[in-house]
Amino acid sequence: MSMEIDARQAAVMPTYGRADISFVRGKGSWLYTRDDTAYLDCATGIAVNVFGHGDTRLVAALMSQAEKLWHTSNLYRIDEQEKLALRLATHAGLDQVFFCNSGVEANEAAVKMARRFQFRQGFEKRFKILCAGGAFHGRTLAMLAATDKPLFREGFGPMPEGFVHVPFGNLNHLRDAMNVDVAAIMVEPVQGEGGAIVAPEGYLEGVRKAADDFGALVIADEVQTGMGRTGYLFAYQKTDIQPDLVVLAKGLGGGFPVGAVVARKAIGEAMGPGSHGSTFGGNPLAMAVANAVLDGLEETGFLEDVRRRAALLNDKLNKLADDYPTLIIERRGAGFLRGLKLSDSLVVGDMTTALRAEKLLCVPAGENVLRLLPPLTFSESEIEQAYLILDRVFSGFVAS
Ligand SMILES: *Cc1c(COP(=O)(O)O)cnc(C)c1O
Repeated sequence: MSMEIDARQAAVMPTYGRADISFVRGKGSWLYTRDDTAYLDCATGIAVNVFGHGDTRLVAALMSQAEKLWHTSNLYRIDEQEKLALRLATHAGLDQVFFCNSGVEANEAAVKMARRFQFRQGFEKRFKILCAGGAFHGRTLAMLAATDKPLFREGFGPMPEGFVHVPFGNLNHLRDAMNVDVAAIMVEPVQGEGGAIVAPEGYLEGVRKAADDFGALVIADEVQTGMGRTGYLFAYQKTDIQPDLVVLAKGLGGGFPVGAVVARKAIGEAMGPGSHGSTFGGNPLAMAVANAVLDGLEETGFLEDVRRRAALLNDKLNKLADDYPTLIIERRGAGFLRGLKLSDSLVVGDMTTALRAEKLLCVPAGENVLRLLPPLTFSESEIEQAYLILDRVFSGFVAS
């Protein structure tokens, strides 16, 4: 029996360092193992399950669409896709949407769009994409070049050309790097994988201005920060900048794989029929669920309440940081994307393991940051429960 299980486990390519645990069902903020042990989920499949697990509205949307029609093709019109496109475009202050299946695909499409737009404007050499230090944009070859993590690129070269990195949050370096070869500046409003790092006040406005001064576009990678994660539908909406391209995935389907690029009409026109595609992108199943996710996020007062509850979580994390100053050296993040930077005496992977042993699921991020990504529905009592576990585990590290 166990031999059999080991053979199956070994049949999965070891691209992830996996914990030896699996879940068989979920409800709300909780995941359950086969023996019915409950885990409080502050990982949400890495910022995906915005309404937690088994949300009845999302399940109903999926089931009802599943009985009607799963998949047709982008060779035909897809009603649910047109509906979602108009809704997302309207929310983003933009015009057109391209649908695909993941964050990296959406980012890759956004870069193609930026280059194609410049090309159509007559700027054939304007292909550079300015990215931020510590950025994470995904794992395809081009997005590895956009991602600032040399280790991720090891043995995968040569990398596609034209991606340049400047320190995140520093407008002087950004302006120095700007020139007429830059097609677009690509930026995460809050760096998720990089360590829950919020762009400093005024930074996104400075990015917009630098882009405008040189005729470059702004790509907001909201794959992690979008769909309410920071308490706003899109994180950039906390500022008054308007990106030219907004990239979405993770939370968009609440757990159903789907990605999207929302863009200005002129960018869509520069693309045109045959310029890009995806067999599965925007299929009826994905669109039905994503429309239901947006319904939930649009409910009157919901995002306001996310901000209120996220502030409560933040208060608790502040208290932890005050109580364990030798273990927690910085508090970071926005909304329900929060990070605690741990001191060098602690390795974040050991922390997530210790928390998991106490039935709390969290995620490591860059710079030794413990990241909390609860569902947007995380309740006050769940915040308290998460806090109590964190407090217990941190106190254990003090004692040891
Ligand atoms: C997760 C993530 C991606 C990659 O998304 P995948 O769906 O894993 O391809 C890209 N950008 C950001 C900001 C992310 O957090």
